[in-house]
This record gives sequence, structure tokens and C-alpha cells, in this order.
Amino acid sequence: MGDAAEPAGQAVAAGAPQAALRPLRIVLLGPPNAGKGTQAATLQALLGVPSISTGDMLRREAESGTPLGQRVRGIMESGALVDDGTMADVVRERLRQADAASGFVLDGYPRTLDQAETLGCILASADRRLDAVLLVTVPEAELVRRALARGRSDDREEVIRERLRVYREKTAPLIGYYSGLGLLREVDGFRPIEEVGRQMVAALGVHA
Ligand code: AMP
Repeated sequence: MGDAAEPAGQAVAAGAPQAALRPLRIVLLGPPNAGKGTQAATLQALLGVPSISTGDMLRREAESGTPLGQRVRGIMESGALVDDGTMADVVRERLRQADAASGFVLDGYPRTLDQAETLGCILASADRRLDAVLLVTVPEAELVRRALARGRSDDREEVIRERLRVYREKTAPLIGYYSGLGLLREVDGFRPIEEVGRQMVAALGVHA
């Protein structure tokens, strides 16, 4: 709280994990298989803020067979999106946990305009706001190649295509939305992992 007016740039001493000098609240935006999970882990290590993947959270729910997990399992396997109301509950609850007070890297949320507005409201109600939205871009042919190589249960080719279609239709509009808010920074995800990490750090104005 009360940190919103501080400048974006800050120094982070070498040696991870290292708590950031002030909370950084970051959204990773990009198509499925752009490498957001890997990059979220990099940022978590560098900035000392938790990486929060809604896909991982939902997969854990599905694996442990909770009522929520049972409800979302089929949706996830089809490549469709879980409804915005459910996602709002999941994310509001997660951001309330103590570790998120030091900032966060959100991986996989928001994915619709409605979710983006909900996130803005959740943060505003705590007098907080996002610092940056990092858009990770990767050519579509490479996204499909990566997904097929990974072989997760929701990685059959028709499901992969469906997830990409849903991304273009529902999630890509967030690029214009966050660009309009002055929060969008683009990084080229079709580069070696370390270099994508360096690009992200540069885009955030932190010195790792
Ligand atoms: P991910 O691992 O981020 O690709 O998410 C796996 C699946 O979980 C997605 O294909 C969706 O079915 C569901 N999911 C994860 N995050 C969201 C979200 N923000 N909104 C709706 N569905 C989501």
C-alpha cells in the first residue's frame, strides 16, 4: 500500500532469491506454450515475489478431486476457459494470502477482458495496482511444436488448436486494453530462456 506513486526502476542485488525493494505486481500475458511458466519462475527467483499460475492451481484442484476440481476438469481438458466468476473467486482468495502482499507474478490470469477488469477491482479495493504487463510473443508454429513435445493430457493437437483459438478470441484483446493503460511491455519469447529473462528484467526496469 501507498507504494503506487514510486518510480518503476529499482535495483535488485545479485543473488536470488532477493526481495524486491518494493512490491512488484506483474502479469505475464501470452499464448499457451509461450514459456510463461518458466519466465514466471525466473521472475520469482529474481524479485522474490510468488509466481501464481491459475492453470497450476486448477490442475491441483482437479487432481485432488475437490468440488471445484471436479467442475473444471472437463473444461480444462477441452481447451475452453473456466468461467470468469469462478476465476474471480480463485484469484481473489489467492491474492489475499500473506505472500502476495510482497507482490506477485500472475501467469495465466487474466485471460478475458472481464477478468482484467476484475483484477483491477481486486487490487484497487486494497489500494494497489499493477506495475507492468509483460507480453511474451512466440510464432504460432513454434507454440504448436512445443505443445506437442510436452505431451500433457490437454496437449492433443485439436485441443492445442482450440486453446490458441480461444487465446486469439478472448485473451488477445487484453493487449490493447493494457497498452491503453500504459502497462504493456513486449518481450520476444522465441529466444533462449536466459535472454528472455534478461529482456523481462530490462522491461521492468530492475537491475538483477
Ligand atoms: P494454463 O496452464 O494457464 O494454460 O491453464 C490450463 C487451463 O486452465 C486452461 O486451458 C483453462 O481451461 C484453465 N484456466 C487457467 N487459467 C484460467 C483463467 N484465467 N481463466 C479461465 N480458465 C483458466
